[in-house]
Amino acid sequence: MKKMPHIARNPAEAREFLSLHVRTRSSVGLVPTMGFLHEGHLSLVRRAKEENDICVVSIFVNPLQFAPAEDLAAYPRDMERDLELLSAEDVHLVYSPSPGAMYLPDRSTLITENSLSRCLCGAARPGHFDGVCTVVLKLFSVIAPDRAYFGEKDYQQLQVIKRMARDLDLPVEITGCPIIRERDGLALSSRNIYLGEKERADALVLSRSLDAAEELVRGGETDVTRILDVVRDVISACPSVALEYAEIRGADDLAPLDIMNKRAVCALAARVGRARLIDNRVLERRD
Ligand code: AMP
Repeated sequence: MKKMPHIARNPAEAREFLSLHVRTRSSVGLVPTMGFLHEGHLSLVRRAKEENDICVVSIFVNPLQFAPAEDLAAYPRDMERDLELLSAEDVHLVYSPSPGAMYLPDRSTLITENSLSRCLCGAARPGHFDGVCTVVLKLFSVIAPDRAYFGEKDYQQLQVIKRMARDLDLPVEITGCPIIRERDGLALSSRNIYLGEKERADALVLSRSLDAAEELVRGGETDVTRILDVVRDVISACPSVALEYAEIRGADDLAPLDIMNKRAVCALAARVGRARLIDNRVLERRD
């Protein structure tokens, strides 16, 4: 029988647990999540377990990263199931503060990243990455991890967090982990629960469009416009999938690209029914 993880509901409880369990030379790995866990999250947890002595998972649906019209209230939650899954992974500490324990009513400090966060999802969701950076910095401050694990599923988020850690000299190694998909290609996401049966089938055009992009680049195509035309064509064949953006940008700096002359990422966001889904693929030329 695996042991239930310890649960900390506020910074003081988390710090107390860590002060008792972290020895001078032990390392701490942190996996920040918003809960409603799936195999994507668990892949990060397994990596953190492998690479560290102590594994901490945070579960917090961060109000600061949702705009007023977004799905904060409806965001799926199932703490009991999450704890069962984490107990099977032998996680040491679950840090799950209430919004009130995370944010004081008169808080007045916000972290802003001014470059990488402005395009892609950041353009459609102003303030979103300020909310992400602020909560992640607060998690780092409480948990003091040696390593933190983020999925490439949220590709822009990973780059923004890496930039924040670099710019603020945070003593934490940021590790990106590969996207976990269903067998048919759909990227796992807590928001997939919003999809009806037909919508779920329709959503497959997203990963298929990325397959097409990858195929073109493998075949030697270097013209970004031509690649994106194909991506958009694949998606528009399914009218119930409303594309928000499909873009190809530099994989590290997220700068716009006309020609595939360096490692790039094809990133997209679309609405399928009430779900806003994102997906991406890193594109590398063979040579
Ligand atoms: P979330 O709970 O959606 O905020 O996600 C928490 C972490 O899990 C983030 O670093 C995500 O990028 C990562 N994640 C979510 N879905 C996947 C997936 N399908 N594969 C890999 N990582 C994922």
